[in-house]
This record gives sequence, structure tokens and C-alpha cells, in this order.
Amino acid sequence: MIIHNLGDENSILNTFISEIRDSHIQKDAMRFRRNIERIGEVLGYEVSKELEYTIKNVTTPLGHKSMNLSQDQVVICSILRAGLPLHQGLLNYFDNAENGFISAFRKHEGDEDNFEVIVDYFAAPSLEGKVLVLTDPMLATGRTLENVLEGLKKHGTPKQIHIVSVIGSQEGIDFIENIFPQNTHLWISAIDPELNARGYIIPGIGDAGDLAYGQKL
Ligand code: URA
Repeated sequence: MIIHNLGDENSILNTFISEIRDSHIQKDAMRFRRNIERIGEVLGYEVSKELEYTIKNVTTPLGHKSMNLSQDQVVICSILRAGLPLHQGLLNYFDNAENGFISAFRKHEGDEDNFEVIVDYFAAPSLEGKVLVLTDPMLATGRTLENVLEGLKKHGTPKQIHIVSVIGSQEGIDFIENIFPQNTHLWISAIDPELNARGYIIPGIGDAGDLAYGQKL
């Protein structure tokens, strides 16, 4: 896996990350969603550098200009519900992307610390020969991505796979490295050291779905 940790570089991306981490600022749900969307825009711009480009002629009112443009068909697949603002950020840049949505939830077995990831809604187009951009805002254990990858296998073989994530745990990244093809790119804005017993990233941000859309029962 080719890992691009963009938080290692000095850029405005880290301002967005600091705001989603900050326990006061993150309480403003609209700002939280918009920051995740902005992170999606920044990471999407970086993904675009890996696409295939061909020369196209553009006619302006005053002449012609040949430009390198990508004709790659991008498919953005996101995991509900926390993935939605990240999905929107990517879609803001990939105008003609096709879209896939997958629902996954943690089914707790008795105690709070043991859970199984259940995938129950799966709507995605063919991926054959396309560029798959798979979003998972919080790459915690990596088990959701494992299930999603399995489900996407029957949709064909993409020519490139890009995972886009906001914050990951080192453990989750090590786990998915063994599952995804070696030429998969991971675009991430921070890698945190730990996971707690409930599978939350430490220090992380808390529950991304709740922060974006409110608490659930
Ligand atoms: N999902 C979240 O929303 N937060 C985490 O820390 C881990 C998974």
C-alpha cells in the first residue's frame, strides 16, 4: 500500500483537522461537516494527481490551448453515515463521478467492547476498469473496509484503488495493508497511535457520525 499522510506536511489541512479534534469547536455540527468536506476536497485534489491524463484541445474565445486532462471514470464509494461529508467533498471536485453507498454498523455482542461489523445496504455501480475512491473517515480497526472490499469484488476490477480517510489508527492501517492490493493508495490526514477497547481512535475525535449528524439510540 502506498501511504500518503498529508498531515505530515505543513498546510491548511491541519487547521481543518485541529478544528474537528477540538472538543469545543467540534460541537458546531455544521462546521464539523464542512471541515470534513474541506478535507475531502484537499484529499481529492491529491488523488487527482494519480489519474491518467491525455492531451485535449480547448477552444477559448480567442484561440486554442492544449491541456492535459483526465478522462478516467471515478467511482466514489462511501460508508454511511459518517462518510457522507467526506463523500461530498470528493464529489465537489470529481464532477462526473459515479457513486456507491454502503451501510455498515457495529453489532455489539453482549458487552460494549466486542462487536462485529455488519454491512447491510450495498448500492454501487460496475467498477470494471474505473478508478475506485473508497472513503472511510475514521479508519479504526479496518474491519469495515475489509467487508466493503469483499462486497465490491462482484462489481468488477477497478484499474486503481484509492482509500480516502480523515484519521486512521496505526493498527487499522497495518490491518488493511494485508488485505488490499499492493498498489492501493491510502490518502489520510492523520495517523493516531492507539485504539481503545471500544474501537475508538485515540486521541482521534470521538464519534464522527454523531458529531456530523447527532447521537443515535
Ligand atoms: N468511528 C468513529 O466515529 N470514531 C472512531 O474513533 C472510530 C470509529
